[in-house]
Amino acid sequence: MSAPASAASSQAATNNLEAFWMPFTANRQFKQAPRMFVSAKDMHYTTSDGRQVLDGTAGLWCCNAGHSRPKVVEAVQQQVAQLDYAPAFQMGHPKAFELAARLAAMMPSPLDHVFFTNSGSESVDTALKIALAYQRAIGQGTRTRLIGRERGYHGVGFGGISVGGIVNNRKHFGSMLTGVDHMRHTHDPDRNAFSRGMPESGAEYAEDLIRIIQLHDPSTIAAVIVEPVAGSTGVLIPPKGYLERLREICTQHGILLIFDEVITGFGRLGSPFAVDHFGVTPDLVTTAKGLTSGVVPMGAVFCTSDIYQAFMDGPAHMIELFHGYTYSAHPVACAAALGTLDTYEDEGLLTRAADLAGYWEDGLHSLKDCPNVIDIRNLGLIGAVELDPIAGEPTKRAFSAFLKSYDDGILIRTTGDIIALSPPLIITKGQIDELFGKLRTVLETID
Ligand code: PMP
Repeated sequence: MSAPASAASSQAATNNLEAFWMPFTANRQFKQAPRMFVSAKDMHYTTSDGRQVLDGTAGLWCCNAGHSRPKVVEAVQQQVAQLDYAPAFQMGHPKAFELAARLAAMMPSPLDHVFFTNSGSESVDTALKIALAYQRAIGQGTRTRLIGRERGYHGVGFGGISVGGIVNNRKHFGSMLTGVDHMRHTHDPDRNAFSRGMPESGAEYAEDLIRIIQLHDPSTIAAVIVEPVAGSTGVLIPPKGYLERLREICTQHGILLIFDEVITGFGRLGSPFAVDHFGVTPDLVTTAKGLTSGVVPMGAVFCTSDIYQAFMDGPAHMIELFHGYTYSAHPVACAAALGTLDTYEDEGLLTRAADLAGYWEDGLHSLKDCPNVIDIRNLGLIGAVELDPIAGEPTKRAFSAFLKSYDDGILIRTTGDIIALSPPLIITKGQIDELFGKLRTVLETID
């Protein structure tokens, strides 16, 4: 009997790997030895050769509720059948309003308004645009400069790479947005290597902002954007007092503060958002990933009522913000997000990382004596193990660890020579032991 058409065409597709240009991937190397996931459930992926792989990274920092969770699957299936799409502009559908209200209620006031996007990159560009348009709306149109941070990752849109500070993501793409400055990052291994949780030293890195303000004058600066915990660059935990000081300086000089919570949002640190964890309230917050637990692409930007109100003060028949996406507040994404929030609530997942953080920290730091480990960093259910790069061959050692981990049944992520870990929030203590046990074997085996 011949295979069903869909199975046959999927087979045909995997026989030819050429057409798909994979993102952030060494395509030629991958296509010689492909790694394929064909299904996922809870904490595990299944590979095309039938092996189980423990997910140590929540996919790409996104599957916070674990994989293929029943409430999310059901919500998506029902929504596709009921209302597949509604125009995003000048039309609404109930789930968009329900979701926005629910999200606003989760976020501390005055971050009471939500603008929907389809990804972290879009959330970042949206937040930067809202910041610029807001300054103009309140008569501060000279405030056009944006400030990011070295080693920051804010997605891959032109706004995001402009304020971002990862050299490889910037250097190929021309001059990007003009009028952007960068503060230094806060990673200070001489003083803070192997810190557990927040490093004691380094709040003074926030004074970089003062230096930039003095150089340009506050009247030219619209907004500052930082990840509360820098993730994709290899997990940099903010020093104690640093975020508070940034907030203070921004407030003093009429500059908007944007937290990019694409990774830290939705329970990663043991509270719904980093805003709660650090007790620092920015003016705008970007999110994505955990919003739908990665099931359907979606992002959301939160802004304060002051910002929202500044746009609502014009004539009522006018469009207030000339910005949006065909798929903003897509009904299927809204349904996935609502199903995800139900799962988080039912299972207490948004605070679960707080209960596991100590166990996670001890397990992670137990790897300190493994070969080539030069730093370990952690907060909530996020962690990094930094390896000493091989001279002349940066990234090779960590990438070997990644490949060996995959063979040994754990999914880790690497950036440079740093191993980053951020498991789904449903991980058990036994699975934490398994993750670090296998990682120890990997680190002891690779060169
Ligand atoms: N901001 C941050 C802090 C991120 O970590 C990421 C993705 N890792 C993004 C933005 C971009 O998100 P996306 O890949 O969904 O565009």
